[in-house]
Amino acid sequence: MTRQVRAFEEDGQRIIQVQDSACDLSGVIVVDSSVLGPATGGCRFWHYGDAGEMLADARRLARGMSYKNAMAGLPLGGGKSVIARPRGPFDREALFRSFGSFLNELGGDYLAAEDVGTSPGDMQIVRSVTPFVFGLPVLGTSAGGDPSPWTALGVFLSIQHVLSRRGIALAGSRVAVQGLGHVGADLCRRLHEGGARLVVADVQDRAIQRLLADLPAEVAPVDEIHRSDVDLFAPCALGGGLNHLTVPEIRASSVVGAANNQLATQADDQRLHDRGILYAPDYVANAGGIINVAAEYLGRDQHEVLEQVRRIPERLEAVLDRAAATGRPPSHIADAMARDLIAAADATPKPMHRMSG
Ligand code: NAD
Repeated sequence: MTRQVRAFEEDGQRIIQVQDSACDLSGVIVVDSSVLGPATGGCRFWHYGDAGEMLADARRLARGMSYKNAMAGLPLGGGKSVIARPRGPFDREALFRSFGSFLNELGGDYLAAEDVGTSPGDMQIVRSVTPFVFGLPVLGTSAGGDPSPWTALGVFLSIQHVLSRRGIALAGSRVAVQGLGHVGADLCRRLHEGGARLVVADVQDRAIQRLLADLPAEVAPVDEIHRSDVDLFAPCALGGGLNHLTVPEIRASSVVGAANNQLATQADDQRLHDRGILYAPDYVANAGGIINVAAEYLGRDQHEVLEQVRRIPERLEAVLDRAAATGRPPSHIADAMARDLIAAADATPKPMHRMSG
């Protein structure tokens, strides 16, 4: 047998470990919540030290997706899949086709989309074997394709909101952007157009050079970007960047970025709060991409995506107002609001969310 599936439940999460030795596929799919709709979240393709690290990442990301989808008002539950990037050469098409066939076995309980390390092209390969995948190349004005520009727009609007709460105009402000990938680079362009001055860092020199070919920015060392002398710090690389080592060194008065799971632990939001740093919960600010994926799933167009992404600052405002009124850190407030939304939906009769075909 080259294909193996091991499924189990832990702390309310349904965990499906999948392996296909014929194409070096080793991954995990986590269904965190199906209360609001099919569990939906991106498929991450990344290097992991071991299976335990991969599983922990998938579980945490899946929980974040439940909260993100609930807070964005989407008819979707939370889930995530991660695939360990093979160390040696591998057949990408065979790997993603195999992954797609595992999705078929879940019958639509989990819907995949693009994430770190995957592209709309990969999702098209997955689509060749299963309907349970989104983030496919766009046709006309329908929603779909690379979600990153929508994520960048939502983060940009969130930054504008948070700066204005701080009494700082975007034009003339200084913003540090960590990570210049699909979202970070697009965000930099929007910030630059809005008159912000940029400090940037990326572990890949070519990402920096690509950006500098388009716009001016000061480049900071990767391990120092978080302590740049700026108004706002925007983590747009991987998760865990806000931790017991970095938070005490942050000089910005606000943190708003695209990265998922920016807080290494819940204690880190308290640390930010204690230092008077205003933190926009990541999954509230970075919901633009999943809003686009949801619109594709629901057959909506880009106009509706734009309308919904423009509402992100409103949702952020509700979280930050409540945090200010209660003196509690914003991520505690957002988590509680998301849990309340899911619990309220769980208490009401639900329509079937299964897809056909
Ligand atoms: P990406 O892979 O295109 O870009 C990530 C960039 O970060 C790369 O250029 C990489 O070299 C850089 N990087 C990695 N580690 C770094 C470090 N320690 N310091 C500085 N740079 C580093 O990914 P993306 O699609 O731009 O997503 C960025 C983040 O936003 C991820 O955490 C992702 O989960 C999150 N996110 C993305 C979307 C989306 O629509 N793409 C949606 C929601 C959340």
